[in-house]
Amino acid sequence: KTFTSGSFVSRTRLRALRDIELEIGAGEIVALVGESGSGKSTLARCIARLEQPETGSLEVFGENVLATQRRGASRGYRRCVQMVFQDPFGSLNPTHRVEHVLERSLCVHGKAGSNVRARLVELVESVDLDPAVLSAFPHELSGGQRQRIAIARVLAVEPEVILADEPTSMLDVSVRIGVLNLLAKLRDEHGIAILYVTHDLASARYLADRTIVMNAGSMVEGGPSMRLLDDPQHPYTRLLVGAVP
Ligand code: ATP
Ligand code: MG
Repeated sequence: KTFTSGSFVSRTRLRALRDIELEIGAGEIVALVGESGSGKSTLARCIARLEQPETGSLEVFGENVLATQRRGASRGYRRCVQMVFQDPFGSLNPTHRVEHVLERSLCVHGKAGSNVRARLVELVESVDLDPAVLSAFPHELSGGQRQRIAIARVLAVEPEVILADEPTSMLDVSVRIGVLNLLAKLRDEHGIAILYVTHDLASARYLADRTIVMNAGSMVEGGPSMRLLDDPQHPYTRLLVGAVP
C-alpha cells in the first residue's frame, strides 16, 4: 500500500501539503504528528479520497487510484480504506441503536453473511465490549465505548487500511490506553495498516512502529518511533519533543 500524494492546494490557495511521500505496509502503524494546522488531517483526508490532491499519486496494492477516479472513491476503495474520527458522535446517528449501525455497515458492503446476529456479537466482542451494548443508543454509551463502536463499524467492512484522526483526543486518559491497545490488536491480529494522527507524542511512541513529523504541509522527519522521539535529528522535531512539559 503506497500513498504518495504530491500537493494539495486548498480553496484559500494555501498549499496544505507538498512533497509528501509515505508508504504504509500491512500490519504497520504509522503515526503522523505535528502542530495544529501542519496538514495531518488533510493528508488523511486525501488518502480517504475526501479531498482531491492537485498532483501526485495514491496507490493501493499498486493501483494508482487518483488516475482511475478523479474525485471521490469507489465502493471498493471505501471498503478498503476506512476512517475513524476524533468525535465518535459525529459519525454515529443518535437515533440508531448500535446493532442497527453495525448491521448497516455489514449490509452496505455485503459482509452480513448468513447469521447477522452472530456477526454483530463477534464485532462488539472484537472491540472488547459486552454484546449487551448492541441494543443501546449512542448517547447511552461512554465516550470510550462510543469510540469502540465507531471502530467496530469500520471493522464490519473488513478494511485493509484504517485512518485514525486523533481517535483518542476526546477521551478520558484512563480509557485512551484501551483504544490504543485495540488499534495495536487490529494491526497484530488482522494485519491492518493504520495511519494514526495524533498530537500526543507519548502515544505515538507507545503505539506506532514509525512516526512521521509534519510541519507546514511537509514531512520533516520520519523513522522508528522510539529512535525518532528519543533522539530527534531535525531541529523542528527537537522543538516539538522539547515542547512537551
Ligand atoms: P490539527 O492538529 O489542528 O487537527 P492538522 O495538522 O490536522 O491540524 P489540517 O486540518 O490538515 O491540519 O490543516 C492544514 C491546513 O490546511 C491549515 O492551514 C488549514 O487551515 C487548511 N485547511 C484544511 N482544510 C481546509 C479546507 N477545506 N479549505 C481550506 N483550507 C483548509
Ligand atoms: Mg487535524
